[in-house]
Amino acid sequence: MLLLGAGRTSVCWAGRRVVEEGLVTGSAGNISVRVRDDRVVVTPGGARLDRLDERDCPVLEMDGRVLEGAREPSSETPMHLAIYRETDAGAIVHTHSADCVAVSAVLDELPPIHYYTLMLGGIVRVAGYATYGTPELARNVLAALEGGRRAALMANHGAVALGRDLDEAIQNALLLEWLCGVYLRARAIGEPRALTEAQLGEAVERFAGPGYVPPAGPAVARFVGGRARLLPPEPGGV
Ligand SMILES: [Zn+2]
Repeated sequence: MLLLGAGRTSVCWAGRRVVEEGLVTGSAGNISVRVRDDRVVVTPGGARLDRLDERDCPVLEMDGRVLEGAREPSSETPMHLAIYRETDAGAIVHTHSADCVAVSAVLDELPPIHYYTLMLGGIVRVAGYATYGTPELARNVLAALEGGRRAALMANHGAVALGRDLDEAIQNALLLEWLCGVYLRARAIGEPRALTEAQLGEAVERFAGPGYVPPAGPAVARFVGGRARLLPPEPGGV
C-alpha cells in the first residue's frame, strides 16, 4: 500500500488540472501538498504534470528526507519546503505561466489595477532572481510572500501560489495569471491607472462587510502598506 496515497492522488489530480487550465506546459512547473504528520507530497523532477502516477510522487519529511517515491523530487522542492516551514500553506503551485513570466521580467511588483489583488493578500511582489532550485531563490520567494501574501511572482522565471488546499492554490495561481494578463493588455494601450491605497482600503472594507463571498481564499479585513491582512472565513459562514 502506498504511503499517504490520498495526498499523492490529489497531487496527480492537480497536475492534470494545471495543464488543462493552461498554467503549465509539459513539465514547466511543480506542485506540492502538506499532508498529515507535517509531511509533504511533491511532484517528481522533469515529469509531465498531466501524466503523473501516484507511485512517482515522492513523500518527504519537512527536512527534505525522502520517505517513499519512485522518482526524485522536483528541483524546486527546497522552495516548497521553505514556504511550508514559514507559513500555514497547505498546498503550493509553482508555474511558468506566460503572463506571469512576462510581468516578472519587467517589474518589481504587479501594479494594483484591479482590486482582486486583495484576494492574494495585497500587492503582488516579484521575488528577486536566483538560479532555479537554490536556497537563495527560496529565500527570495519567502521575502516576497512576507506579510501573509498568498502568491508571488519570481523574476524572469514564473509564479508561486499558496492555498489551504490544492484547489485553492490552483485558484490563486489562475487569479494571478489573470491579473498579469489584464495588466499586460492595459499596458498595451497606455499607462494603466493603479488603484490608490485609499481605494484599496475601501475595497477591503467592502470585503469585510456582510454578504460577501470571497472568490478565492480567506476574506481580508484591512489594507495597510501594500498588504491586506487575511482573516480566515467564519466556520460555516457566508
Ligand atoms: Zn520553475
